[in-house]
Amino acid sequence: MSTTANANLFSRLFDTLDDTTRLAIETPDGKHISYGDLVARSGQIANVLVRRGVKPGDRVAVQVEKSVENLILYLAVVRAGAVYLPLNTAYTLNELDYFITDAEPSLVVCDPAKAEGLRTIAAKVGARVETLDASGKGSLSEGADASSADFATVPRGNDDLAAILYTSGTTGRSKGAMLSHDNLASNSQTLVDFWRFTDKDVLIHALPIYHTHGLFVASNVTLFARAAMIFLPKLDPERIIQLMSRATVLMGVPTFYTRLLQSPNLTKDATGHMRLFISGSAPLLAETHREWSARTGHAVLERYGMTETNMNISNPCDGERVPGAVGFPLPGVSARVVDPETGKVLEADEIGMIEVKGPNIFKGYWRMPEKTRSEFRDDGFFITGDLGKVDTKGYFHIVGRGKDLVISGGFNVYPKEIESEIDAIDGVVESAVIGVPHADFGEGVTAVVVPQKGATLDEAAILRALDGRLAKFKMPKRVLFVDDLPRNTMGKVQKNVLRDSYKDLYTT
Ligand code: AMP
Repeated sequence: MSTTANANLFSRLFDTLDDTTRLAIETPDGKHISYGDLVARSGQIANVLVRRGVKPGDRVAVQVEKSVENLILYLAVVRAGAVYLPLNTAYTLNELDYFITDAEPSLVVCDPAKAEGLRTIAAKVGARVETLDASGKGSLSEGADASSADFATVPRGNDDLAAILYTSGTTGRSKGAMLSHDNLASNSQTLVDFWRFTDKDVLIHALPIYHTHGLFVASNVTLFARAAMIFLPKLDPERIIQLMSRATVLMGVPTFYTRLLQSPNLTKDATGHMRLFISGSAPLLAETHREWSARTGHAVLERYGMTETNMNISNPCDGERVPGAVGFPLPGVSARVVDPETGKVLEADEIGMIEVKGPNIFKGYWRMPEKTRSEFRDDGFFITGDLGKVDTKGYFHIVGRGKDLVISGGFNVYPKEIESEIDAIDGVVESAVIGVPHADFGEGVTAVVVPQKGATLDEAAILRALDGRLAKFKMPKRVLFVDDLPRNTMGKVQKNVLRDSYKDLYTT
C-alpha cells in the first residue's frame, strides 16, 4: 500500500526525502549526484516531456546507453504519470520497428546516431523523437537545462502502469510486461527490508538499466534505502575489485562472479569491506558459489525473479545461503510447485512448475489479453514457465525453463541434473544439455561442453565419467565441445541458439 497520498512510485520514493544533500550516485568520472539533484533534474526533464505532449498513460520508449541522465529520465517519465519503456541498446532499427509499432509511444528517446532511422519508424505511430547520448547530452537534456525544476508529480493509483518491459523473447514474439506503480514500489520496499539495505550502503552498479535487474532491483532498492550507488557503464572486473574497499553491496548476474573469480586480485582482503554479494537473472553454479565462499569468505546471496514478476524468492541475509538454491518466497509473495498438467501442488523434492502470486506480479502482457489469461491460474497464481522444486527445508531450487525440458523416449530429462554431473568432471568449465530432434527418441539428450584450456577431454571420456551416475535414458547420446556457450547480455545461456545449431545432428 502507498505510504503517501499519491501512489506514484516517484512520490513513494521521494516525498519523504529529508536530506537533499545525501549522495545518490557517483559516476566513474567523479561526478557526485545528490538526492536533491535527482529530484530537481527529474522535474526539469518531466517539464520537457509535458511540453513535447507526453500525457499520463503515454508510453515513452527509450533506447539510450547507460548514464545518470538516462536513469533520471526514467524517474521523470514515472513522475509525469507516463509509462517508461526501456529497450535493449543492442536492438537494431529492424527490431525497434516491432517494439515501437507495438507499443505506440508518444515519444521516443534515442542515441543521436539512431535518430534518423527512428524518426521514420516513430512517424508511423505519430511519435516525436528526442536524443540523448552516452554522456547524457542531446536535445532532451538541452530542453531540460532550459526548464524549471518545479514539477507537481502526477497522481497515480496503485494499478496504473509505471513501465512496460519487453521480455527477451527467445521463442515467439517478445511480449511487453506491464508493471504498475505498486508492483515496483512494493517489491523494492520488501527487498530493502529483506536484504537489510540502509542509508550506509554503497552499491556497485555495473548492470544495464534497460532490464529489470539493473533498473528496478538495483536502482529502486538503493533509492528507497537512501543508499548510494557507483554507476559503472558495464562489467569491469578490476574496477569493481578496486571499488570494493569503499562499497558494501554488489548485484550481478552469474557471469560477474565467474569473471571476478578469474582475477588474482579477488581476495578476502579486497572484499573485506563488502556486506553482500547478490546474484540473479540466471543460475549461479553451486561450484561458483563454493569457489566464491572459499576465496572471499562471503556466501553469495542468490535470488529468483523475472521481468513479469519482479523478485519472488531469495536466500536469506541471516541464515544459510544454500549453493544451487534460490531461497524462500519473499514476505508477501506466495510461491508453489505444481504438476503442470493438473495444477496439483507437489510434495517436497518433486519437480514441477513454479507459480507465484503477490503484489509484485505484473498486470499482464501489453495488448495480449489471451496470452495473459493463459499464463494465470483461476486463483490468481502466475505460471512462471520455470521448473523447480522445494526441498524439505523449504528452499526453492530452479531446474530450468519448462521449454528447455528434454523429453527422450517419453521420459522427462531435466537438463540441470545432467549439467551438474558433467560440470563436476575434472577439466570441464561448464555445460549445457539440450534436446535435439531424434527419429527414435523424439529428442536426443545432447551435451555441449566447455573444456578447460589444455584439458584432454573427449566425448568418450565424458560418457565414461557419467556411466553409472545417470540412468540410461538420461545419458547424452552425443557430447560436443565448444569454446564458449552462447549467452545473452544478462548472462543467460541461449539454449535456443544451441538447439538451432545442432538441429540436424541425429538426422544427417
Ligand atoms: P528475465 O525476465 O530476463 O529477468 O528472465 C527471467 C528468467 O531468468 C526466469 O524466468 C528464470 O528462468 C531465470 N532466472 C532468474 N533468476 C534465476 C536464478 N537465480 N536461477 C535460475 N534462473 C533464474
